[in-house]
Amino acid sequence: MRKIVAGNWKMNLLHKEAVQLLEQLLNESTQIEGVDLIIAPPALYLADFAARIPADGRVKLSAQNVYFQPSGAFTGEVSAPMLAALGVAYCIVGHSERRSYFGETNFDVNQKIKALLDAGVCPIVCVGERLEERYKNVHVEVVAQQLEEAFDGLSSADMAHVVVAYEPVWAIGTGQTATSEQAQEMHAEIRHALNINFNESVVNEIPVLYGGSCNAANAAELFAQPDVNGGLVGGASLKASDFMAIARSF
Ligand code: PEP
Repeated sequence: MRKIVAGNWKMNLLHKEAVQLLEQLLNESTQIEGVDLIIAPPALYLADFAARIPADGRVKLSAQNVYFQPSGAFTGEVSAPMLAALGVAYCIVGHSERRSYFGETNFDVNQKIKALLDAGVCPIVCVGERLEERYKNVHVEVVAQQLEEAFDGLSSADMAHVVVAYEPVWAIGTGQTATSEQAQEMHAEIRHALNINFNESVVNEIPVLYGGSCNAANAAELFAQPDVNGGLVGGASLKASDFMAIARSF
């Protein structure tokens, strides 16, 4: 199973600061073995970062969002073929901030996943329940439905090129992390739900990342869970030493 630590920089850092962080990560990444490092800077920096990141190195580039149409009159949007042409290997889709602030639905997520796979870009598909859904004890059903609608119409062969991130909404940017038991329970449920529609041998190789206030202090315990294959990290990815400490937690 691949191990992945991905950093979602969100809408942070001016270009000069972002380049500094990238340079630190590139230097320190040479000491990391066996973990794929992915960074998702603001879209505006992708072309420059693509030129700075060695193609054969440990650090890979991700976008934070994409539009599902390949080209055309869609002012302000970026397409999957545009990402692919720059060598951007991954793209986050369905992040809870996109779902809540920009109205992204499971159907939108599904269209984006298909567009990315068509272009050869690996989607990092975020799912996760809200706090009230966990209180109502419907969190497993909520996530299973997100997965079913997000991956509707995909084949098992397609699923070999996706990454899933379980990000409980109540844990994102709040400092409140899921316990390792809560994370393991949901990650096992995610694999179980995917097994209903897709080939088990493919599903067993899909990395399922945990996201939600993951940091250097809690990563080792989370990553020790059998179905937690890495992390999608927000706040703690903005400091090279914190991000690298998380990557070294495996
Ligand atoms: C995220 O936004 O994907 C995330 C996990 O953020 P944070 O680590 O800051 O909770």
